[in-house]
Amino acid sequence: MNFSLTEEQQAIQSAAREFAQNEIAPIAAEFDRSGEFPRETIRRAGELGFMGVETPGEYGGAEMDAVSYALMMMEIAAADAAHSTIVSVNNSLYSAGILTYGTEVQKKNFVTPVASGQAIGCYGLTEPQSGSDSANMKTRAALSADGSHYIITGKKAWITSGPVADYMVVFASTDPEKKARGISAFLIDCNQPGFVRGRVEPKLGIRASATCEIEFDNYRCPKENRLGQEGQGFAIAMDVLDAGRIGIAAQSVGIARAAYEAARLYSIERKAFGGSIGSFQMIQQKIADMKCRLDAAYLLTLRAAWNKSIAKAQGARNTVEAASAKLFASETAMFCAHQALQIHGGMGYSKDLPLERYFRDAKITEIYEGTSEIQRMVIARQETGLR
Ligand SMILES: Cc1cc2nc3c(=O)[nH]c(=O)nc-3n(C[C@H](O)[C@H](O)[C@H](O)COP(=O)(O)OP(=O)(O)OC[C@H]3O[C@@H](n4cnc5c(N)ncnc54)[C@H](O)[C@@H]3O)c2cc1C
Repeated sequence: MNFSLTEEQQAIQSAAREFAQNEIAPIAAEFDRSGEFPRETIRRAGELGFMGVETPGEYGGAEMDAVSYALMMMEIAAADAAHSTIVSVNNSLYSAGILTYGTEVQKKNFVTPVASGQAIGCYGLTEPQSGSDSANMKTRAALSADGSHYIITGKKAWITSGPVADYMVVFASTDPEKKARGISAFLIDCNQPGFVRGRVEPKLGIRASATCEIEFDNYRCPKENRLGQEGQGFAIAMDVLDAGRIGIAAQSVGIARAAYEAARLYSIERKAFGGSIGSFQMIQQKIADMKCRLDAAYLLTLRAAWNKSIAKAQGARNTVEAASAKLFASETAMFCAHQALQIHGGMGYSKDLPLERYFRDAKITEIYEGTSEIQRMVIARQETGLR
């Protein structure tokens, strides 16, 4: 077994690290404080190919593999989780489904501007009354009398990049009686009438990633912008989440690594009782536990990324690999942020250092794209075959 990265993977890793450390890290605290959407650095990320890493070149992407995508995400997240949230939605939740299920025209019209970073994409599955139980949606799409459009009505909640997005993949029921099998997916131009953006949600962490509710008020979606077949939407949503969870696992590894590195250095520098605090066994235990979990999360994440194309070629799902990586890495991010803050003592609690930001940012990784409880349910159901 060979654990080394290819030259191409090393190249994107170092390009992403350079960009993240030089251009994102210096502004992360300021954007966290203001909650402003970081348009300029996101535009730059697009220029560097980071908004469409796995997207084929003909649709404006960098045409790299899933491992490259994960490595890029780790680097961006280590500098700022909020930036990596925006990047991940564009790459996986938004683009992945269109690339797999879209027509040629849909890929050209809806993926190309987003892969280049000229436009922002978002993904609308969650509703005010349904998150984990996402099939229980109330948003409806009904064909117009002349059959040329779907009329969409309903509300989507917690939409990352919703306040600024140009395009959206949205899920709506075309046949409520059929429940999950009656859900269809649609490609939305966010600047058309009937697309109503709610207020920006005030959040604990990833504050520079804009999140809001979206109301569809008799939005007219041309029939040719339906993604996949009628009734295929829920399968598309779940398939896309398999890809998305690799991105969130990588984001978690990035946050965990940043927290761990800060704690490791501080444990050497900070003196108490006549020596470095890192010489105390209770601090050593924290360092050792963080290091082991971080490495395990990194390996699980890269395994899920590496297995993605293999599973696809075999017509299989990558569900357990992606869910395991997301579950373990997100809990590792929370663990490392918690331990690293503790190792910094009073300074960990200060806004002058990024430890409290890591702590707030890490929490979201245990919630979105399926909570930790839902990841455990997904893994156990796959392993046992029970419902
Ligand atoms: C910052 C942020 C950004 C987001 N971005 C997006 C986005 O871009 N697009 C989008 O569609 N959604 C997005 N979401 C929504 C997110 O995916 C949901 O919040 C998440 O799936 C949980 O759903 P919920 O909030 O409705 O919680 P609920 O489903 O109400 O869950 C509440 C609690 O019950 C637990 N629970 C629920 N069902 C079970 C079960 N069967 N077994 C055990 N425990 C269970 C959950 O784990 C959780 O602890 C975002 C959320 C946040 C906070």
